[in-house]
Amino acid sequence: MPKTERWQWYVEEFSPAEQHHHAIDDLFVATRSKYQQIAVMRSPVFGKMLVLDGDTQSAEADERIYHEALVHPALAASDDRSDVLIVGGGEGATLREVLRCPDVRRCTMVDIDGLVVELSRKHLPEWSDGAFEDPRANVIVGDALEFLRSCGDRYGAILSDLTEPLADSPSNPLFNDEVFTLIKSRLHDDGVYVLQASTAAVHNAALHCKMARTLRKHYRHVVTFTTHVPAFDTEWAFLGCSDRVELSQLEAQRIDDYCARLSGESFFYDGVTHRRLFSLPLYLRRMLAGGGDTF
Ligand code: SAM
Repeated sequence: MPKTERWQWYVEEFSPAEQHHHAIDDLFVATRSKYQQIAVMRSPVFGKMLVLDGDTQSAEADERIYHEALVHPALAASDDRSDVLIVGGGEGATLREVLRCPDVRRCTMVDIDGLVVELSRKHLPEWSDGAFEDPRANVIVGDALEFLRSCGDRYGAILSDLTEPLADSPSNPLFNDEVFTLIKSRLHDDGVYVLQASTAAVHNAALHCKMARTLRKHYRHVVTFTTHVPAFDTEWAFLGCSDRVELSQLEAQRIDDYCARLSGESFFYDGVTHRRLFSLPLYLRRMLAGGGDTF
């Protein structure tokens, strides 16, 4: 029997007209929490993968590309890295990257789904790599919106590692003007807010541009940066927001000094990668400059 017939397939549907078929040679768990469907599987191409509601969240082969991009430009730009907040981030890999920075004294991570955290710790321990046991980690299972409303703290950096804000996703209520105002109120005046901000692929960048347009109402500097994430099968986008600093303009020396102080070895991010992340193609710059709807 040809190998393809022996495999089972995980079919990620990007739209009704576009699918990516991943062969799976192991399905570790497929279940449903109160909030979402959760599956952990292994693909012969990308290794272990976490899939929520049919969307790939991260994969062994390239999760370091996504997580280093989400965390390090933000922390390199921050003047105060002592207290960092992650909203979402269930796998613990964003936490792992934040805790590589020796200036971080506390990192609070708030994820709504305790089952995602539990299953990630069990099946994907390489993602957190001990971060959940780090005494600087403050992991809270709860709705980030409730947390943002009730906590009195302010942070030098806030990182948003939430699922896509689709209509039925528990992250959906976190994408609107009121919540963006709330998030800003939890940042120090000079703080940096970075969010994973959907795809910036030429045919599908509308959601990203909508996020960028909305956030421009809240921050003096809002900048898009992107990188290809193979397991997502697309160019992935992030937004860096601050009233003080334009992330694309960080001096090379500052990035080199920041990277030199990180514990462990980076896979993706350094000064050269920083310039590449912020070097956007003409069509995307045009789309971002154009008008359109906001949240
Ligand atoms: N890399 C991912 C992607 O591409 O979409 C995001 C990764 S992370 C697994 C997303 C996390 O956001 C999930 O663990 C989910 O439980 C969490 N989440 C969704 N809505 C949330 C909310 N309202 N409060 C806190 N966490 C939330």
